[in-house]
Amino acid sequence: MYKLKRFIKNSFGAELPIRQRFFIIIFAMGFLVGIAGVIACMSLNSSHQAIMVSAIMTLAFPLFAYIGMRVKSKQDTLTSVALVVVNFVIFPALYLSGGNIFCGIPSYFCLGLALTLFLANGKSAYILTTLESFWYMFIYFVSWKWPNICIDVPAFTMSETGKSDFEFNAVSSNTLMVCVALGLLAKIIFSLYQKETKIVADTIVEVKRQSIIDPLTGVYNRRFMYDYIEEQIEIARKNNTPLSVAIFDIDFFKKLNDTYGHLLGDEVLKSLTSILKSSCQGNEIVARFGGEEFLVVLPGYSVEEALAHAEEIRKCIEQSQLSPTLPEDKPVTVSGGVATLTPNMDDEALVDNADKNLYKAKESGRNRIVAEEVAE
Ligand code: GH3
Ligand code: MG
Ligand code: MG
Repeated sequence: MYKLKRFIKNSFGAELPIRQRFFIIIFAMGFLVGIAGVIACMSLNSSHQAIMVSAIMTLAFPLFAYIGMRVKSKQDTLTSVALVVVNFVIFPALYLSGGNIFCGIPSYFCLGLALTLFLANGKSAYILTTLESFWYMFIYFVSWKWPNICIDVPAFTMSETGKSDFEFNAVSSNTLMVCVALGLLAKIIFSLYQKETKIVADTIVEVKRQSIIDPLTGVYNRRFMYDYIEEQIEIARKNNTPLSVAIFDIDFFKKLNDTYGHLLGDEVLKSLTSILKSSCQGNEIVARFGGEEFLVVLPGYSVEEALAHAEEIRKCIEQSQLSPTLPEDKPVTVSGGVATLTPNMDDEALVDNADKNLYKAKESGRNRIVAEEVAE
């Protein structure tokens, strides 16, 4: 009992990928129907061939399902063309050379339908299966109305029971029909599942994105920034490489807001972040630390390199017009503080040191960068 429970959990448990779970369901359905077919054939004392076809289906049905799940091809056209050739030409040719309407081959029509259902992609699977069904009905009709059209080759039935081929046909075709119907149902449910899981996956991606991105400027938020610095501290310690951060704060931003309004203030924030972002390379990132304060994480930068880099950014901001409304002769400027990782320092201490240097830059006249070492 415990083993059975564990088997069910392992086969259908939520931790399995949806594709795999679905395949197992189809496999189980195909297998059960195939077994039912074999039992039905045997209890009707059918020919060996009928039993054989049911047995083939028992294996073929899940095999097609498996291939279909695996291949989910980008070569949609190629697969469809191959299916059209097999189902519209090869199977009917086999049938028409098989003798008459009661020969065993029509069963393979159903196999063809299953093949189409599983191997063709999306809508083309439904369209092809429908067209094939009509095509097969037409061929049945023709061979019934004009039986001479069929080439009478010796039947390959292995019947030892004396039962007619018609019975064989009926049982194996019915088995296969049920398989196809189940396959259709399975496919519809699977595509619904896929749509649902895609919606859930997209939502998760969006929620994750929103939880780390500042909505106004599109740069990382403070929460992500601390996580990232923590990660970079670990890397720096492991590789014995330097790590610096630079905080920038807009000078007299409140006055700018008061003079030109908050909307223009927002525009300035966005222009500023695009300058900061374009300064970043590789694993360097920008984050919005507070209202008009931004932090750039500079892995691999010594304090001198970080100071030079921050100074370049400061100059670039001073030389840029962050909004066409602003007067050209009074550029928006920033002050900055730089800090570098020392032993025993954590993420908060590193940012705090940069902040202290920013304060010094403000104190000493603004529009400058300070990178003095701060006592721990
Ligand atoms: P300092 O040179 O000392 O940095 O002076 P400051 O005026 O820039 O600094 P203060 O901290 O006094 O003012 C910051 C202002 O930033 C106040 C607030 O209205 C503005 N601010 C914060 N977030 C936003 C925002 O998202 N949009 C806009 N437009 N303004 C913001
Ligand atoms: Mg400011
Ligand atoms: Mg500020």
